[in-house]
Amino acid sequence: MTDAIAVLNAGSSSLKFSLFVARDGALELAARGQAEGLYTAPRFVAKDGAGKLLAEKSWGEGTKLGHDGALDHLVAFLRSDLASHRLVGIGHRVVHGGLEYAHPVKLDAKVLATLEKYVPLAPLHQPHNLAPIRALIERSPELPQVACFDTAFHSSAPAVAQAFALPKAITDRGVRRYGFHGLSYEYIASVLPRHDERAAKGKTIVLHLGNGSSMCAMAGSRSVASTMGFTAADGLPMGTRCGSLDPGVILYLMDELEMDARTIEKLIYQQSGLLGVSGISSDMRTLEASSEPGAKAAIDLFVYRIGRELGSLAAALGGLDAIVFTAGIGENSRSLRERVCRDSAWLGVDVDAAGNEGRGPRISTATSRTSAWVIPTNEELMIARHTRALLGAGS
Ligand code: ADP
Repeated sequence: MTDAIAVLNAGSSSLKFSLFVARDGALELAARGQAEGLYTAPRFVAKDGAGKLLAEKSWGEGTKLGHDGALDHLVAFLRSDLASHRLVGIGHRVVHGGLEYAHPVKLDAKVLATLEKYVPLAPLHQPHNLAPIRALIERSPELPQVACFDTAFHSSAPAVAQAFALPKAITDRGVRRYGFHGLSYEYIASVLPRHDERAAKGKTIVLHLGNGSSMCAMAGSRSVASTMGFTAADGLPMGTRCGSLDPGVILYLMDELEMDARTIEKLIYQQSGLLGVSGISSDMRTLEASSEPGAKAAIDLFVYRIGRELGSLAAALGGLDAIVFTAGIGENSRSLRERVCRDSAWLGVDVDAAGNEGRGPRISTATSRTSAWVIPTNEELMIARHTRALLGAGS
């Protein structure tokens, strides 16, 4: 019987999970999958670590399984199908740890109540992240749970990097730059020494480019600045999010176009970014395959904004030793990496075309002053590691 840790990532209409087992001191992926379409046409799929189908179920069009129903199904699956493993804990991805949580935390009703205070800071994510935690505290109180935060890694950034130039009374309410994708950056920081000791000890910018995109400046593997701020809508343009926007635009939308907060929320989170600019798709693969001018304009803007942020983060670091590409676009789009690296020649990046074609890990030449890397991220493993460490499980 081996100890197993489940990792949950709950979104607005899906519940993603991974299951890790402790083997020879390391954590090995045993299963992963998701329940999706929770309120429309629910479907559950689970595969093993090698991608072989383990379980599948559909509930049919119009069924409202909901988060609680999906969680019941998942817990039953985790307990029954994996009889050779003992489920010792659950780690959750929680977007916001606010000012209180700079590290993962073991969950109970009191911690949950604190995390609920942060719902207004991340209304699109935090309520969904917390829903399965609440349900499990009620239904399976014997199962230890841990919350790991997307904000925590950035708590090392200096005060000046966390501040907005707003009156203190507003800053004191928690209106400041938090930064997100922290579990991804923390994972990259944990494996960077294997690839490049100089980058791990020095000045490195990690580019997490996926549906959600951000960049993080790390000094000695600790976050000193990030492109995301108070919410995950800031910084780079993303699949459907606009990224940095002059606050005057919001006032214009309200006053001149008579948009209310919910309409603007939809605009900046769901209708902008690559989708909004291209008018075609939020998906980089679709845009790269398209010959439409809108697709080119969207990619050009994305590349341009990445270049601007690279300069800004390099300034925050006072120099640059390495850049690292990760997440869906960063790991897979050779052409985007090539363009970003070429634009970074002034920062000392000399891209190696063959290395870039082959997905790296090193994609800069041996003589490049600044090294460039492609390193796949693994936020789930990071959560499982934290959960194991905090619960003292399976070690
Ligand atoms: P999420 O933020 O939802 O975790 P991912 O990290 O999976 O997103 O990234 C999704 C993005 O990665 C999409 O824009 C997708 O088009 C892009 N992507 C995945 N594979 C490729 C590829 N081979 N070439 C270009 N883009 C890709």
